[in-house]
Amino acid sequence: MPKLTFSGGVNPYSYKATTKNLQITDLQIPSRVVIPIVQNLNDEVSVTVIKDEYVSIGQKIGEIKGLNCSPVHASISGKVTDICMWNHPVISLPVLSVVIDSDFKDKKITPKKTHWDYFRYSPEDLVKVIREAGITGLNSGFLSVYSKNALLKEIDTVLVNGCESEPSTTSENRLMIEHAYEVIEGLKIIMYIMDVHKSHIAVEDNSDEAIESLKKVVFKAPNVSIKILKTKYPQNGQRQLIDAVLDKTVHSGTSVTDSGIVIESISDCYAIYQAVVEAKPVTSRVVTVSGSLIEKPGNYNVRIGTLFSDLLDQCGYKKETEKKMKIILGASMTGISQVILDVPVIRNMSGIFTMKEDNVNPKTHACIRCTKCIKACPMNLMPNFISIYAESFKWDECLKYHPEDCIECGCCAYECIAKRPIVQQIKLAKQYKEELHVKA
Ligand code: SF4
Ligand code: SF4
Repeated sequence: MPKLTFSGGVNPYSYKATTKNLQITDLQIPSRVVIPIVQNLNDEVSVTVIKDEYVSIGQKIGEIKGLNCSPVHASISGKVTDICMWNHPVISLPVLSVVIDSDFKDKKITPKKTHWDYFRYSPEDLVKVIREAGITGLNSGFLSVYSKNALLKEIDTVLVNGCESEPSTTSENRLMIEHAYEVIEGLKIIMYIMDVHKSHIAVEDNSDEAIESLKKVVFKAPNVSIKILKTKYPQNGQRQLIDAVLDKTVHSGTSVTDSGIVIESISDCYAIYQAVVEAKPVTSRVVTVSGSLIEKPGNYNVRIGTLFSDLLDQCGYKKETEKKMKIILGASMTGISQVILDVPVIRNMSGIFTMKEDNVNPKTHACIRCTKCIKACPMNLMPNFISIYAESFKWDECLKYHPEDCIECGCCAYECIAKRPIVQQIKLAKQYKEELHVKA
């Protein structure tokens, strides 16, 4: 049977071998965590603890108003030593955060009521449970759909994204291997809430162990099938996933839910199981730490709010020996370069990747019109023209090539022999288009 896939894409050098077979291990309790209360810049937030208060793991420390937001919980036990503005790894400004100093006792709050018999509760009640556990609609496909009331749209399929096609992360792969039961139970909860009777878990063909683990459990869930996809980047893109698994095209200007589909991640399925069945809020997450500057690479269960500097120290970060280095939040293809290391681990962060500076920022040249970027683009765009026009600020010409459809996967830049900063130029074009839209 031909393997399921999409058009375009690339096969970048994979760093997965270093961490793929390493079991998830708990990182030591950090002496301090800094937990951002804000999830978006314009959130209306309130802190529910005061300075010097003793907090236990799982205790609510902040509330956010808004449909796509959720409460924030303490990830260690100890004393609140500050409530202040602190640097955030993604939002470019300092945001309101709670600083907790650990007492290393790992004291937890009294467990809340579990909903293991979730089918006895209404979907609305379960959505409240999930949100109260700190699972946000921002990162969770099904919750954002639910919060926008898009259930009014005809959703008939849940697609679980088990394609971890970024070449440096293995955290989702390990969750499928070690927690297949919880992932599939989480998916069943989502299906119940959305009243959907068909779902697929998409996994790439380089994840044999994950496929085997899922197969051992999935037979108990007759409406769930496992789809094995060809390993290719960016197979984890929403439109690429739908193209490969369902042979459907999500057209420009329409959303995934317009096609009756909701896409959910492996880690969110797992977190939803923990919230509903085990009554556990989100206080940690699995992070892959790897790259040439890490002595002890691995898949670590890290408390939310752990500072990058502490996490890297525990993983044997070789900062003394390497003066020129780059730390990437997320993964090697799409991650954000991180200059400041006193920023905290946040809920939707799957990896940290490190590399020497001579691997990055190479000298760039003029386009030689080789068309490699066009062949690689999974969105069928012409990245070369967008880039050339954006570079010379010829916006009218540039916008004719639809930069807004770009998913910022980086395949074009990866293939470009001239090493042109295509993605940065496309981002500029998108920004220009958004500003035009705001002014209109
Ligand atoms: S133009 Fe955008 S979608 Fe196409 S390859 Fe480049 S980054 Fe990816
Ligand atoms: S890959 Fe680079 S050099 Fe080749 S056409 Fe695209 S932008 Fe130009």
